[in-house]
Amino acid sequence: MIGTVYKSTGSWYNVKTLNGKFYECRIKGRFRLEGIKSTNPIAVGDVVEFDLETKNNTETGVIKRIEERKNYIIRRSVNLSKQTHIIAANIDQVFLLVTINNPPTLTSFIDRFLVTAEAYSIKTILLFNKIDTYDDEAILEVKYLASIYREIGYNCIGISAKTGKNIDKVKLLMEGKVNMFAGHSGVGKSTLINAIEPSLDLKTREISEQHMQGQHTTTFAEMFDLSFDAKIIDTPGIKGFGVVDMEKEEVGDYFPEFFKLKEHCKFNNCLHVKEPKCAVKDALENDKVSFSRYRSYLQILEGEDENYRTDNWDM
Ligand code: GDP
Ligand code: ZN
Repeated sequence: MIGTVYKSTGSWYNVKTLNGKFYECRIKGRFRLEGIKSTNPIAVGDVVEFDLETKNNTETGVIKRIEERKNYIIRRSVNLSKQTHIIAANIDQVFLLVTINNPPTLTSFIDRFLVTAEAYSIKTILLFNKIDTYDDEAILEVKYLASIYREIGYNCIGISAKTGKNIDKVKLLMEGKVNMFAGHSGVGKSTLINAIEPSLDLKTREISEQHMQGQHTTTFAEMFDLSFDAKIIDTPGIKGFGVVDMEKEEVGDYFPEFFKLKEHCKFNNCLHVKEPKCAVKDALENDKVSFSRYRSYLQILEGEDENYRTDNWDM
């Protein structure tokens, strides 16, 4: 049988088959995947093949194969070991909620997020939330930011999770996809998810699970089917996207507008910093590349925003 992992507790996996039935599955013996060293071989979103076993009149599954992942996001464990934990796999897109005020979202944060998502091969859509509260100045800022990110190719929508403005557009984009929501604490993720699907009270789940787990820092991702054809992966208590190890030369490849220009740089390993005849710097001088994007790029390159990495946002 083939199914998708909806929930994982570490030793058990809740797998849903195409005909909609859930099976408790486990892994028998040693099960290692090539390539990734992780504390969990299988994560939420994985597509797995399993055999059925009947014990004490209950049917359970034994996972024997996992399908190749389209993408996955990881957390490095807190202790110093190099162990990674796969949070979720096969994510179609992530909605990044951005607010101008309460709380403010900095462009350096947005750009770092986008770089990480690009590195993970996950599509990002920017949602400018709380537009019901903005004055003219804040609206201008939303429009300005949206123009920067649209130009690069990111879909941007101004929404209000509170009034319901443009929530229909968000739902339309979610259709047929595995979706995640991210952004600083307080940007309105829970409010938005509640507006999308009132019966899905993720906030309650977050509180109760954290309460139950006491001191433990690991919480588990879970996938939910919505009442329309869409899925959400919720990751309570998981902060950030995890750290993606990147070579300096790679960073520019995850700025799509820089990547497009790279072939016109004189040096094919151009870092777009001090090199002569750099197409990115030329574009910057001609206002074809946004200054704030370039500044974020330099910050990431120089590792200046190292603090950023220590989890100041959640999903
Ligand atoms: P989360 O931490 O990202 O899940 O944020 P919440 O959903 O808990 O929202 C934080 C606060 O912002 C709450 O008081 C919400 O009522 C408020 N909020 C969320 N979205 C909107 C919105 O579109 N407009 C307004 N005015 N308030 C909002
Ligand atoms: Zn260059």
